[in-house]
Amino acid sequence: MAKNSPFPSLISEELWEDGHHNSGAGLNDEDAKLLGAFLLQAIEDGFAEDYKDHHEEQERDEKYQYPFDVENVKEFAHFCIESGGFEINWGGRMNQAKDIGNKCVYCFKDTRFGSGLFVNRIPATTDEYDGYSCYPCQYKYEEEE
Ligand SMILES: [Zn+2]
Repeated sequence: MAKNSPFPSLISEELWEDGHHNSGAGLNDEDAKLLGAFLLQAIEDGFAEDYKDHHEEQERDEKYQYPFDVENVKEFAHFCIESGGFEINWGGRMNQAKDIGNKCVYCFKDTRFGSGLFVNRIPATTDEYDGYSCYPCQYKYEEEE
C-alpha cells in the first residue's frame, strides 16, 4: 500500500501507513497547509483526474471501493489549509468504516434510485459507516450545527 501514496513528497510512507491503520498519525499546521496547497496544485495540473482514472480501475476490484472525485480532494485540500493541523483518520475510515452501500449513514433509509431519496443524497461517512446522507438528514444535521 505504501507505494501507492499519491502524496509522496508530504506524507511519508510511515505516515501513510499509519493513516491506513488509523493510529492517529497527523500533520502539524504547517504541513497541513503545504499538503492543502500541494493538492490544489495537483488538481490544477490534472493529477487528480489521472488518479481518478487509476482509481476507477481499482474500483472494479470489490475489495477496493471508496468514493473518489476531484471535489472531495478539493474539499480535503481546503480542510487541510484551514485545519491548523489534524490527525489523519481518513485512511482508517476507508478500511474500517462498514460500507452500507445505498443506505443513509444517519437514518439507514435506503437512498437507491427510485427510493425517493436518491436525487439529493451525498456520499457520507461516519466513524462507523460508509454510505450516503439522505436529504432530510443533511438538512437536520445542518440545522443542529
Ligand atoms: Zn437519512
